[in-house]
Amino acid sequence: MRIGIAGAGVLGRLLAWRLSRAGHAVTVFDPAADPAAPATGSLQRQAAYAAGFTAAGMLSPIAELDNAGPEIARLGWRSLALWREVADALRADGCTDPLFAQHGSLMVAHGSDLGAARRVLARLETAPTLAAELPTPQPLDRAALAALEPALAPGLHAWLLPEEAQIMSRDMLEALAIHAPDVHWCWGERAALVAPGRITLAGEEALSFDLAIDVRGVNMTHPGAACGVIPSRGHQQQPGKAGSAQALDGDMPVRGVRGEVIWLHAPGVALQRPVRLLHPRHRVYIVPRPGDLFVIGATEIESEDRSPVSLRSAVELMAAAHSAIPELAEARIVHMEANLRPALSDNEPHTHLEPGLLRINGLFRHGWLLAPALVEDALAATGLPPAPLRGFPPPVPEEGHSLWPGEARSTAVLDQAPASVNPC
Ligand SMILES: Cc1cc2nc3c(=O)[nH]c(=O)nc-3n(C[C@H](O)[C@H](O)[C@H](O)COP(=O)(O)OP(=O)(O)OC[C@H]3O[C@@H](n4cnc5c(N)ncnc54)[C@H](O)[C@@H]3O)c2cc1C
Repeated sequence: MRIGIAGAGVLGRLLAWRLSRAGHAVTVFDPAADPAAPATGSLQRQAAYAAGFTAAGMLSPIAELDNAGPEIARLGWRSLALWREVADALRADGCTDPLFAQHGSLMVAHGSDLGAARRVLARLETAPTLAAELPTPQPLDRAALAALEPALAPGLHAWLLPEEAQIMSRDMLEALAIHAPDVHWCWGERAALVAPGRITLAGEEALSFDLAIDVRGVNMTHPGAACGVIPSRGHQQQPGKAGSAQALDGDMPVRGVRGEVIWLHAPGVALQRPVRLLHPRHRVYIVPRPGDLFVIGATEIESEDRSPVSLRSAVELMAAAHSAIPELAEARIVHMEANLRPALSDNEPHTHLEPGLLRINGLFRHGWLLAPALVEDALAATGLPPAPLRGFPPPVPEEGHSLWPGEARSTAVLDQAPASVNPC
C-alpha cells in the first residue's frame, strides 16, 4: 500500500517504522529540517518541534493513575512490552544507543503530600481488575529505600512501582527514523491539508495515497468531516454514534498544554530509576539519563506559549528535585526546554478512521506511554496489522554494572549542535 504520513513525532515515526517493516511504501512529511533531536543548552528560539523530543520519556502506567483513568493504565501497560520489543528490534538492527530501560520507578512523597500518593494507591485498590493486571506497588521503609536508592532523602514515604520503565526519547525518535531507510522522509515539508487518500503540502498540489495518516500533534487542523472513531480505548464506534468520540466530528479541537523541563548534570549522584515526587502544584519527576544527566519535569500549564522556561517553574521544579535528592545541590543546570503537549478536550487520546484516512491525536502527557498500543490498534482496525516485532527477554543488568547498555556518550550538552549523523 502507498501510505502518506503527516507528522514525524512519536506517532509518525513509530507508524512509519512499523509500516515500512511490513512492506508498505511509506512517505512522511514534517517541517523539521532533519530527523535529529533539536539542540540543547541554547536559549535561542528554535522553530517548533515534536513534543516527543522534550518528553522525559517516563513509562508510568501506575503513577499516571494520579491523573488518568484505568484505560490509560491498561494501554500503557501493553505499550511497555511493545517498546521493549521495538528497542530490541532496533538493537538487532545495529543501534547501540540506550533506548529503553526497565527497572521500575519510585513514587515518593514528603509527609505533607501523602494525600496524592494515597489517591494513586486507592485508584488501584478500587479497580480490582486493573489491580490484577498491573504489578502491585511495594511500600518501602526507610532501610529498603536507602538500600534501593541511597541518594533519596531518608524521610520520604516511598513505593516501588515494579516494571515501570523509561524511554530515551531523543535517541528513540532519531533511531526510529534512521532505522527505517525504506521510508521516504520528506523533511522541511509542511502538510497544509490531510484528507482521505491525499496530503496537500503548503503551496502545492495534493499527493495521492491509499491511506493518508494525520499525526501532526498540536498543529493538526481538521476541516469538518463526519467520521467514525475507533479503538483508542478498546471499543469500536460506528460513524455518528454518541460518546466522547463525538469530539472528533467537525474540527479536531487540539490544544497545546505547556510543559517545561530542566536538565541537570550531576556526576556522582547515583539514581537507578525514575522518581515521581508527589507535589501539591506539579507532578514532578526526576529521570536519570545516561551521561550523569537528570531530567526534571514537568509543569502542566494551560497555555500555548512556547517561550523559555519561567523563573517560577524553574524554581519550583528544582526545589522539589532538591528536596527529594539533596545531593543535587551541586548539579549544574545544562538545559531548559518548554514544549506543547497535544491535548483534546477530555485529555484522552482519540483515533479517527474513515476510508483512506487515519488520524490519531490527543496523546497529551502520555504520548510515549501510549503510542505503541494505539498504533497497533489503529493499524489492526485499518486492516494493516503490522509485521510482528522480534521479541527478546528484557536485559537484566548485573549488580554494579551500568544500567545503560552501550553507554559511551558525551556528557557535553551545552550548546550542542543538533546531531546530523546517524546516532546508531
Ligand atoms: C514537557 C513534556 C514532558 C513529557 N513527558 C512525557 C513522559 O514522560 N511520558 C510520556 O508518555 N509522554 C510525555 N510527554 C507527552 C508526549 O511527548 C506527547 O504526548 C507526544 O509527543 C505526542 O506525540 P505526537 O506524535 O502526537 O506529537 P508530537 O510528538 O508533538 O509530533 C508531532 C509532529 O508533527 C509535526 N508537524 C506539525 N505540523 C505539521 C504539519 N503541518 N505537517 C507535517 N508535520 C507537522 C511536528 O513537527 C512533529 O514532528 C511530555 C510532553 C512534554 C511537552
